[in-house]
Amino acid sequence: MTDIRPSLPVKTYRDFIAGQSLLDRARGVARKAAILALSAGRSPDDNEGWIRFPFYHHIFDDERPGFARQLDFMASHGDFIGLDDAVNMLESGASISGRYFCVSFDDGFKNWITNAVPILLDHGVPAAFFVAAGYIGTSVERDREKLLGFYDSRDLLMEFLSWDDCREMADAGMTIGSHTMNHVHLIDLDDDGVEAELADSKQLIEAELGRACVHFCCPFGRANIDYRPDHHPAIALRIGYRTFLATTRGAVRQGASLMGIPRDHLLAGWENYQLRYFFSR
Ligand SMILES: [Zn+2]
Repeated sequence: MTDIRPSLPVKTYRDFIAGQSLLDRARGVARKAAILALSAGRSPDDNEGWIRFPFYHHIFDDERPGFARQLDFMASHGDFIGLDDAVNMLESGASISGRYFCVSFDDGFKNWITNAVPILLDHGVPAAFFVAAGYIGTSVERDREKLLGFYDSRDLLMEFLSWDDCREMADAGMTIGSHTMNHVHLIDLDDDGVEAELADSKQLIEAELGRACVHFCCPFGRANIDYRPDHHPAIALRIGYRTFLATTRGAVRQGASLMGIPRDHLLAGWENYQLRYFFSR
C-alpha cells in the first residue's frame, strides 16, 4: 500500500488549506462578503476602555506580510500590552483608559519562532504563547504518527517547537503558558484527567523554562462545548494558574473575570476590514 500522506511539514497556508473541501471554501467566500457589508461604518475607535485578546495558531511562510500588516492595523487603533500587564491592569480594579491589544498564540508550532516572533520583535509587541506541552520537542521524523494525528479532520504534518525554542522566546520577553499536555477537550475528561493535563503541563513547562507558568489557555475554548465554565476554571485556579483563556469573541472591560477571558481568533491573511468588524463587536 502506498503511503500518500505528507512526509514534509506544512510550511505555507496554501498547503495548509489544500485539502479543504470546495464547500468549506465556498462558505469562506460567502462569509467574507457578509463581513465586508457588516464592517461598513464600524471602527474599533467607536469606544475605549477595553483590552482585546486577538489570537492566532500559525504564521506560515506566506502569512508573514499579512501578519505584519495586521500588527500595523492594531497599532493604529490601540497599544500592545503583555499578558502579565493585562492581568495586573484587570486585577488592579482601576479604570482602563484607552484601547489595548494583548496578542496570543495557541498550540506550539515551529513557525512561531521562524515567522511570528521576528515580526513581533520588529513591531515591539509582547505576546503570549500557549503550548500543548506534550508536543514540544517532538520530531517530524521520529514522531510522525503522533504529529499526523494532531488534527482530527486531516493528515497534516505540523512541526512543533523544541524546548530550546521556548527558552529563546521566553528570553526574548515572550510569555509561555500552558495549553494542556495533549491538546484535549477538557469536557470529555473526568476531574482527575483534567487535573493531570493542567498540572503536568505546568510542571513540565516550569522545569524546562525555569520560570513560573501561571497562564492557561483552554484547547478549543468554547464554554459548555469544550469546557465547563462552572468547574474547570476553578480547577485551574486551585492548581496555581492566574488566568483561564477561552475563545469566545469580545472586548474585556474592567471587572471581567480572569477565569474565562474572551479572545478574537484571527487568520493572518484576513483583510483589515475583517479585523475592523471583529474588533468593533
Ligand atoms: Zn489549540
